[in-house]
This record gives sequence, C-alpha cells and structure tokens, in this order.
Amino acid sequence: MTATLLQGDTLASEIKTGLKKEIEQLKAKGSPPHLVAVQVGENPASRVYVRQQQKSCEEIGIEYELKELPDSTTQDELLDFIETLNQDGAVTGIILMMPLPQDIDARQVQIKISPDKDVEGMHPANMGRLVYGEMGLTPCTARAAVELLKASGVELKGKEVVIVGHSEIVGKPLALMLLASQMESPTLAVCHIATKDLSFHTKRADILFVAVGKPGLIQADMVKDGVIVIDVGINRVSVTDENGNPVLNEKGKPKKKTVGDVDFEGIKDKASFITPVPGGVGPMTTTMLLYNTVESAKKGAARR
Ligand code: NAD
Repeated sequence: MTATLLQGDTLASEIKTGLKKEIEQLKAKGSPPHLVAVQVGENPASRVYVRQQQKSCEEIGIEYELKELPDSTTQDELLDFIETLNQDGAVTGIILMMPLPQDIDARQVQIKISPDKDVEGMHPANMGRLVYGEMGLTPCTARAAVELLKASGVELKGKEVVIVGHSEIVGKPLALMLLASQMESPTLAVCHIATKDLSFHTKRADILFVAVGKPGLIQADMVKDGVIVIDVGINRVSVTDENGNPVLNEKGKPKKKTVGDVDFEGIKDKASFITPVPGGVGPMTTTMLLYNTVESAKKGAARR
C-alpha cells in the first residue's frame, strides 16, 4: 500500500477561498475583520511569525496590525493594553506574540483577552466549550489536525485513535475535539512522555496523531497496515549522505531540512493516508488562525 498524501496546502487554499467571500460580506456590512498582534520587546523568532501572519492575512483581505510595546512594559501595563483592545469595537481579533519578557505571566495575559477575540482559541472559556462539544474558536494546530483527518473522509465511529503528545496547544484540545460527538466519537488513547509502552498503543491505532517534537519517534514497526497518520511535529534536522555524514551547504554549514515526528519514508508504504512534513499540518495551522479571525469578526458583527 502506498499512502495517499493529506496535503495541507491544497485544503488550506480551498478554505481560504471560502473565507475571502465571507470577508467581503463582512466588509460590505461595515464589520471588517481586524486582527491585532501584540508584541512586547524584540524577538527575532516572533518577527518571522509576524511577517508570515501579516502576509497570510493580507492575502485574503484581513486587516493586520502589529502593536509593539517596549521590553520595559510591566504586566499591569500589558493587561491594561489588552483591555483597551478588548473594548475597541474595530478590533475583532487579538493575538499575543510569544515569548513575553520573563517577568510577565503569559497565562494571565492570555486569559485577559476577551474570549470572543481569542483567535488562538486558548482562553479557558473557549477550551471549556470544547468539553461541551462546541467547536467555536478552537486552538489552531489541533483544529488543523482534525480538518486534515476529515479530508481523508474516514468515519470516526468505532475507530481506535491514538494521540501521542498531551500538550495544552495540541494533544489535549485535539482529544476533546475528537470526543465532541455523543454517538460518532472514536475510542481514544492519549500517550505522552510517561507512557510505559508507546508501541503497544500505536500498533492498535486506526488513526494516529503525533505531536511531540522528536524526529523519528514513530517507526514503521510501531504502526499497523492501513493506519491514517497525522504528523504534527516540526523538527529541523541535519541532512546526511548514505554513510550518515552531514551534508554541507554552500556556506560550509550543515544542511538542514524540516521533518515531522514520524519516519515518513518507512511508514508511507504501510499507511492508507499520511500528512507530509512540511506541507501538511503547518499550512493548515495558519489557515485555522485566519478561520478563527473571520469567526471572531462574525461574532462582533452579530453583536452590533
Ligand atoms: P510540547 O513540548 O508542549 O509537548 C510535547 C508532548 O510530547 C508532551 O505531551 C510530552 O509528554 C510528549 N512526549 C515527549 N517525549 C515523548 C516520548 N518519548 N514519547 C511519547 N510522548 C512524548 O510540544 P507541542 O507544543 O505540543 O509541539 C509538539 C510538536 O508539534 C513540536 O514538534 C512542534 O514544533 C509541533 N507543532 C507544530 C505546529 C504546526 O503548525 N504544525 C504547531 C505547534 C506545534
């Protein structure tokens, strides 16, 4: 068996086409989506994200604004700033760029964001809604993984699903999303660093989600034939030649590539569906941020 690729790029562009239409309608109603990113201090990594977010937003007509606060900003000042954005009717979504300076409690600030403007879906109120099976503003990566699974057309009822990784941003919300339906939910196991025998669980999986951050964690002998694999992991590793020696780039530095947590080459001939890395969950995550931004703008428009 050679697996069908679940391409994030393709699905993302379909979703974006639908979002563009909704954005035009919101603009016509005088309620354009307006996403504000808040960055405190200088951080090269978050600069890269900001540029990517801005490009993705502008491509589909979402107004994107970066608010930069100095490194010296105190927690109280930041909380007040977030409250101003919460009260501003023209701001429909707020995203907090990480990391924040060390003496700021990121969770307190995240919680301050109005649940209706929480485009990352990380507010306890939005997480709590997942317990009730409500898919409102949901954490983007977990939602991206679910949407990619849906693209395989598989029915969840009666399936054995294994999630490897139980972080707050991926594994835990993903488990709740999969259990959303009373009657159509799969049977679920969530594995993590303290799981005793990982392959005992992964071998039973009809559908396997992996969100750990360890390249090659899941090997072909750990899965069964026909498994559906959604690989959330993003890892930068050195490229090696056939003898295992590092390949150098034109600057004489070790050449790097991006891989997931799953041994893609080994598993692709066993799986029925598999997400590539890059090009799988990654592009869908950004798209789910855009989706949430449009959802939050629709909520704002409905309140007016
Ligand atoms: P995290 O570090 O918060 O959590 C890692 C999880 O893996 C934990 O639950 C931990 O218990 C588990 N774990 C660690 N070692 C393990 C092992 N040997 N066996 C079983 N479980 C183990 O990570 P995260 O923020 O959830 O991210 C996970 C991966 O997903 C990373 O590679 C990250 O880069 C990637 N990621 C991708 C996207 C995307 O858009 N595709 C978005 C967010 C995160």
